[in-house]
Amino acid sequence: MYDAIVVGARVAGSPLAMHLARRGYRVLAVDRATFPSDTVSTHYIHQNGLARLRAWGLLDELLGTEPAAIRQAHFGYRGLQLSGWAEPVDGIDTAYAPRRTVLDALLVDAARRAGAEVIEGFTVAGLVFSEGRVVGIRGQERDRPMREFRAPIVVGADGCRSMVAAQAGAEAYKVVPATGVNYYAYYSGLDGDLHHRVGLHETWCGAWPTHDGLTVAAVICGRSRFKEFRRDVPGNYQAVWDEIHPELGAQMRDQGRRESDFVAMPHADNYYRQPWGPGWALVGDAAYHKDPYPGFGITDAFIHGEILAERLDQALSGERPFDDALAEYHKLRDEMSSENYEFTTTLSAFGELSPRLRGIFGAIRKSPEWTTRLFGLFAGGVGHDEIFSPEAVRRLYEETGTPHDRRVHPAGSA
Ligand SMILES: Cc1cc2nc3c(=O)[nH]c(=O)nc-3n(C[C@H](O)[C@H](O)[C@H](O)COP(=O)(O)OP(=O)(O)OC[C@H]3O[C@@H](n4cnc5c(N)ncnc54)[C@H](O)[C@@H]3O)c2cc1C
Repeated sequence: MYDAIVVGARVAGSPLAMHLARRGYRVLAVDRATFPSDTVSTHYIHQNGLARLRAWGLLDELLGTEPAAIRQAHFGYRGLQLSGWAEPVDGIDTAYAPRRTVLDALLVDAARRAGAEVIEGFTVAGLVFSEGRVVGIRGQERDRPMREFRAPIVVGADGCRSMVAAQAGAEAYKVVPATGVNYYAYYSGLDGDLHHRVGLHETWCGAWPTHDGLTVAAVICGRSRFKEFRRDVPGNYQAVWDEIHPELGAQMRDQGRRESDFVAMPHADNYYRQPWGPGWALVGDAAYHKDPYPGFGITDAFIHGEILAERLDQALSGERPFDDALAEYHKLRDEMSSENYEFTTTLSAFGELSPRLRGIFGAIRKSPEWTTRLFGLFAGGVGHDEIFSPEAVRRLYEETGTPHDRRVHPAGSA
């Protein structure tokens, strides 16, 4: 009998197992993958995600693997372009995009060092129920007999296609259909900044450095262009770069070298799932998924996993009932993420910006301070209200000498 079982041991599962094991609980984490291993991701971690790693005592270990430091960003949306960087978030002034082969293995090790039992290569076939509650899991390692493990709480950290969510009957809500298909590859010989640009024709391109002198360079094309795109992936991929970001497109052709195959991945829909029920909970992509366009997935998995661990500690220690603790996790998760969710689903459609957003971004472009603030929003150090509230927009327009268009911002508000 364990205190908690975690299904999935990557960026959501391993930190959760680590937090609970550090608090003295008997934790089992299982994953059908073995580590180190890669998974589909372009693995950019924002400063507030890195701050969590530092708080857990893991950032120095990650930096010891020498991921490239990122300190300059270039953001573009349909012709509107901004360059700059965020103020430090909790003292973190640099971003990193460590390979998942490195990051996930480091997190699995940290969970084990904390005392969690981790079984790799173990596929969970199903949940075990008793009187309407989840009481455990059944599964097996390849060629080994089926085994059953029990615990008062089973957490699904098993990604978008979560088996735990499906079997527990977790309802999805606020679903926004996915818009894009992602193609990425690793290049040598490119510059070391973060590039992030939406073009005019339902396309996006982005690149940032990772380990070993390589840059992960990605293109997203709208689903309507998917069939046409996949007829000639290398040609269409290069054409998107040449069209949206000709300077980096030229670097790729003239001095860069593609060092990997292309990874192709249609994005999953955006959704929230009911993240708990009798004997079960969800975290990471299993619980909440949004388009990877702004790169919030890993950071959110870290932050929400920490909140869940605190609430599970309260429940497992008898301090408060499970239902009470997990309902609070649900509420906090939704409150903390709702503005980023709306921002993500709006921008990742790659469509025309609303006049309001176009006005705001246009004004921000005139001011280095406001540009820094906008990058701070991505980095997790600046709240949406500091840029988008009526008061903030009024200040933005005043400070940048932008005429206030009352059709866009009625009654002088935003
Ligand atoms: C193309 C693309 C680019 C992205 N780029 C970024 C980025 O730059 N930055 C960022 O922050 N996020 C990015 N993301 C999102 C990010 O990768 C995810 O948010 C993150 O991986 C979610 O982590 P997780 O631990 O919840 O799930 P996952 O990483 O999906 O891990 C789930 C684990 O559960 C295991 N599992 C599943 N089912 C079972 C089972 N039945 N039994 C046992 N084990 C099981 C799997 O083997 C897997 O290891 C990107 C996503 C995509 C698709």
